[in-house]
Amino acid sequence: MLSGGVGGARFVRGVVDIAGPAATTVVGNVGDDVEVLGLHVSPDLDSILYALAGLADDRRGWGRAEETWRTLETVQALGGESWFALGDLDLGLHLVRTQALRAGEPLSAVTARLAAALGVGTRLLPATDDRLRTWLDTPAGTFPFQEWFVARGHRDEVDAVRYEGSATARSAPGTLEALAGADLILLAPSNPYVSLGPILAVEAIRAGLAARRVPCVAVSPLIGGRAVKGPADRMLRRLAGGTSPRQVTNCYKGLVDAVVVDEADADDLDGLGDVRPIVTRTLMTDADSRRRVAEAALGAVPA
Ligand code: GDP
Ligand code: CA
Repeated sequence: MLSGGVGGARFVRGVVDIAGPAATTVVGNVGDDVEVLGLHVSPDLDSILYALAGLADDRRGWGRAEETWRTLETVQALGGESWFALGDLDLGLHLVRTQALRAGEPLSAVTARLAAALGVGTRLLPATDDRLRTWLDTPAGTFPFQEWFVARGHRDEVDAVRYEGSATARSAPGTLEALAGADLILLAPSNPYVSLGPILAVEAIRAGLAARRVPCVAVSPLIGGRAVKGPADRMLRRLAGGTSPRQVTNCYKGLVDAVVVDEADADDLDGLGDVRPIVTRTLMTDADSRRRVAEAALGAVPA
């Protein structure tokens, strides 16, 4: 399964709940990765790790439960870099990861170690171990992903999305094997442009997906044409010309065979071509709803 952060993690939990951790491999986005206070932060990988480890703060919607912010307060008081909120518990993970990366360990290896240490049995692979960064062209200028998303609160409309490093980024070890060996490939209801886009910008991953011999099912991040959270709807309107299932599906042209859409979007299923719609309620607020969406998508598995 290919997934971004928080939105993707909801679906990942549902899938793992049904298919089991050992049967699931998640390929995560690293286009959001950012250096903060000298530390390498991989927000999307961490959202999945925390969700699968049962450590996520479901109410706040990101980061760790029972988080405290004393380090950040000190950083602020000292005039340090504090635009990107890193909690005390979260920082521990970034310290361990950063040290390992500096010692030359690839991101995929560090991620596997972190997952094991957190008791996560699902395989989590970054799309690439190479540097890949998302940039947004907006009327106010060009920004690295986190500056646009966090510092500017994604208020700028997006004219174009670019993936720095994608031309040379190699797929991380295990990703192509996972795609080639899968019974079913899933695209989480993550932002098509800034979460799944960077993964699919890795040429080898896109090619592996295009050459699939098993179905690929995408889950739409929209309900009633609106994003549950974040800028996906605004981006689709501006970059794809609309927010119906057709435009979502078009982001994955040639890469998907079915799309899970919400009941609220079921009246506008025109233009899907040979992509089969699967209609259900797709809002994931608890274990039952996560399982319902996962079941809808997993229903496409060949007998
Ligand atoms: P991020 O990397 O943390 O920003 O998260 P993702 O890109 O993985 O997910 C963000 C997307 O998930 C948004 O476009 C939301 O609309 C979508 N999303 C979040 N929760 C749900 C949900 O319960 N159902 C559906 N269908 N989409 C959701
Ligand atoms: Ca993200």
